[in-house]
Amino acid sequence: MQTDVEIAQAATLKPIGEIAAGLGLQESDYEPYGHDKAKISLDVLARRKDQPDGKLILCTGINPTAAGEGKTTTNVGLSMALNRIGKKAMTTLREPSLGPCFGMKGGAAGGGFAQVVPMDDINLHFTGDFHAITSAHNLLSALLDNSIHQGNPLGINPKRIVWKRVLDMNDRALRNIVVGMGKIGDGVVRESGFEITVASEIMAALCLATGLEDLKERFGQMVVAYTYDKEPVTAAQLQAPGAMALLMKDAVKPNLVQTLENTPAIIHGGPFANIAHGNNSVIATQTALKLADYVVTEAGFGADLGAEKFFNIVCPAGELQPDAVVVVATVRALKLNGGKDKKQLAEEDLDALGAGLVNLEQHLENLQKFGVPAVVALNRFPSDTEAELELIRERCAQLGADVALSEVFAQGGEGGEDLARKVVELCEQDSSYTPLYEPGDSIRAKIEKIATEIYRADGVDYAGPALGQLSQIEQEGYGTLPVCMAKTQYSFSDDPALLGAPRGFRITVRELVVNAGAGFVVALTGDIMRMPGLPKVPAANGMDIFDDGTIVGLS
Ligand code: ADP
Ligand code: MG
Repeated sequence: MQTDVEIAQAATLKPIGEIAAGLGLQESDYEPYGHDKAKISLDVLARRKDQPDGKLILCTGINPTAAGEGKTTTNVGLSMALNRIGKKAMTTLREPSLGPCFGMKGGAAGGGFAQVVPMDDINLHFTGDFHAITSAHNLLSALLDNSIHQGNPLGINPKRIVWKRVLDMNDRALRNIVVGMGKIGDGVVRESGFEITVASEIMAALCLATGLEDLKERFGQMVVAYTYDKEPVTAAQLQAPGAMALLMKDAVKPNLVQTLENTPAIIHGGPFANIAHGNNSVIATQTALKLADYVVTEAGFGADLGAEKFFNIVCPAGELQPDAVVVVATVRALKLNGGKDKKQLAEEDLDALGAGLVNLEQHLENLQKFGVPAVVALNRFPSDTEAELELIRERCAQLGADVALSEVFAQGGEGGEDLARKVVELCEQDSSYTPLYEPGDSIRAKIEKIATEIYRADGVDYAGPALGQLSQIEQEGYGTLPVCMAKTQYSFSDDPALLGAPRGFRITVRELVVNAGAGFVVALTGDIMRMPGLPKVPAANGMDIFDDGTIVGLS
């Protein structure tokens, strides 16, 4: 079997100008970055503001295995399939992070014959957006430490600094560090640390912003520290937003690339799906909706996290009206949810599969609460048996759920035509999208609704500092921001071991953090790693490149 990078390197790419022209873009509408990447000007969106949008399709999934169930692969494959059946379609995706790329999960440009290309560039430095985000974030860190060093006019308490530094790498050794060591001119000594760039609030803000001025305003609101009197200190007080925005002048523009079948794709922004909202930038989705009739976008992790945040945070921020949802399910993840040992997922097991289907069922029920019609995309793996696929079809028929077998990994767009036709049908139906909660609801009420209606918890407990933080957040005027839940991706509950559709549990909120620039309050339900580490055998160990440009080990 060919590897992902072999397939990608053998692909024939069209010059990016040809892809742009196919979308009706003029040469002045984009800036080429080499032969097969370009940045689209923000004027394109501004000029087409009053034109009707295309149909918006969200690609989400069931609770996954650690390897991922193929949302990105399905997303890319579906956009190619829609084109094959005569529709003008695009995919919008997140930019991959170097952390997972060199760590355990690998890249994030799809897989098999459903990839976006050039996959090596997309997975590595791409158009430099992550560099810009890292620089803007660390500029604010440097300005903050310098203000303390230069007499501390804002009265910042060095023990109450919440803004760390960032780097796009899984580097556990930088999680906790001491800065400012050395001579008198070397800054003030204090404990600090690094987080991964995708966990930066700047990444989240970029992905919810509507333009550069809006992004700058969000920078100004970011809380970086507290004074000795426990008053919040913002980036605006450090006079940082202008220079930060300057660093972001190109990163704010969405990136145009193509799929293996030359379907246009926009890849822009990549916030963590955990402590952030896990969707590509609103600017990317809005731009695509003006350029294509069907736009497929992906939300990170399972639908309990990614889709919930898409509907409750992203759609209101971008004034987006989703038309259909694709729920990616795999035989292997359903078996895992039904109690099968994770090392034996390739074995046929109809009992485990039957038991695990409750997971899919709960996701489908939940999606109905948002009023958007859904179809199940059954992402076929080589180990799946006919009996297993049939069992899923039967159960979906009993539930009255649409289901389509997706073979885009093995066959490209051709393997997704059935799914594409079902998606077109759904888009013809009336979508009555509504968020789960009212914008004016209190933070407690929002968390309660998500926990009881989506996770099916009996209730919510607040532990440790969470209750105190809640009242402080309300006092500071952030009491009606949307809530960004940080929870394990493996379970509907906050316990990664409770698979399937657990009942009789409660959710424990341990910490609440204001991300005023991103515009949400993060509710942490467990220990969430903001700087992951590499596994015992990192993917990096298997990577190489040669003089003729051949790459191995990138997937
Ligand atoms: P997600 O976006 O849900 O995390 P990805 O699309 O990135 O998932 O896929 C996760 C991994 O599984 C990738 O390495 C991808 O190449 C692989 N994969 C996805 N679908 C299939 C399939 N049908 N057969 C084999 N491998 C697949
Ligand atoms: Mg993905």
